[in-house]
Amino acid sequence: MEMMDWWESMPKVELHAHLNGSVRNSTLLELAKDLGEKGIIVFSEVEHVILKNDRSLTEVFKLFDLIHILTTDHATVTRITKEVVEDFAAENVVYLELRTTPKRNDSRGMSKRSYMEAVIEGLRKVDVLDIDFGSTEVGLEENGKSGQMIDDCVGISRTKIYVRLLLSIDRRETLAAAMETVKLALEMKDLGVVGIDLSGNPKVGEWITFLPALRFAREQGLRVTLHCGEVPNQEEIHAMLDFLPERIGHACCLEEDAWRKLKISKIPVEICLTSNIRTNTISSIDVHHFADLYNTNHPLILCTDDTGVFSTSLSKEYAIAATAFGLGKKEMFQLARTAVGYSFVEEQVASKLKDLFDLVEKSLAYND
Ligand code: 5GP
Repeated sequence: MEMMDWWESMPKVELHAHLNGSVRNSTLLELAKDLGEKGIIVFSEVEHVILKNDRSLTEVFKLFDLIHILTTDHATVTRITKEVVEDFAAENVVYLELRTTPKRNDSRGMSKRSYMEAVIEGLRKVDVLDIDFGSTEVGLEENGKSGQMIDDCVGISRTKIYVRLLLSIDRRETLAAAMETVKLALEMKDLGVVGIDLSGNPKVGEWITFLPALRFAREQGLRVTLHCGEVPNQEEIHAMLDFLPERIGHACCLEEDAWRKLKISKIPVEICLTSNIRTNTISSIDVHHFADLYNTNHPLILCTDDTGVFSTSLSKEYAIAATAFGLGKKEMFQLARTAVGYSFVEEQVASKLKDLFDLVEKSLAYND
């Protein structure tokens, strides 16, 4: 318990979190009950799907389809965004790069843009602490609670969370839809959108479909991260690495030559331990590639992927890594600190975050 308190109070940086995968179970159940009462779904048929813990990769994507049915209206998108940010803030995540797939749903009068506006509205509504989401709109980057002391990062009072957004392209989409997402990201740069992610069921579609959109994003100054190597498609993995994305997520199924290519490239890897184990992408924690990457000083970031779907938190991921790989508080603190450098945030904020880590570190005595 005492160690868990430590991981929770340590400042942390989250760079791989999907909005709809991070929704609280209690919220999903509430939304499902509501839709059940309206006769849109049968609650008893979905309750166990929401509460189930172990899911294969295929089942995870079926669950996302259900979650999307539950969250598809503007007010709900706003609600879940606010809750997800507040949940990360509550465990002392000081910088959150939140990703989500802009969705069009004509029956709800929702366009990709209005979906993203609902997300931004959720950021504005965060009120348990200050939020900086990079908005250049006067007065909107702060929510008026400055000076309030909410959480303690191991002894240092903290008043703010920095949030930036990545827009995801789903592998089910067409190139035209992906282009629309990239253009939207460019239009929303002043609202804290810093990059593009390619995600969605890795068994569906081909990444090459999206290459023109990803190239365009990069030419226009957006950063790119790709879900890479969740399934053993070596041709795709090589092509993705050759693209030299600014980061990749997972990197689970790389054979020897792809692994060598990754190491040479120094592309930072977003590691999601619980997600990889739960979906059986990696058979057990003791054979996880975290160890090899860490031991060879390859850039890596510990992340959650989907706190709701995998019943985890960033603090739990730090606890799991420390125990499984025999790392102490000092090493884990440094891991969190280096994550700032792999984020897509503007340099001025990165520098503030590094100062925060320095300040906290001065107050620490690392007694493991
Ligand atoms: P959303 O983008 O709707 O906010 O978050 C859920 C979506 O993120 C899923 O529908 C899926 O496209 C993507 N996603 C979440 N977790 C994973 C994962 O572990 N692997 C991949 N490839 N995509 C994921």
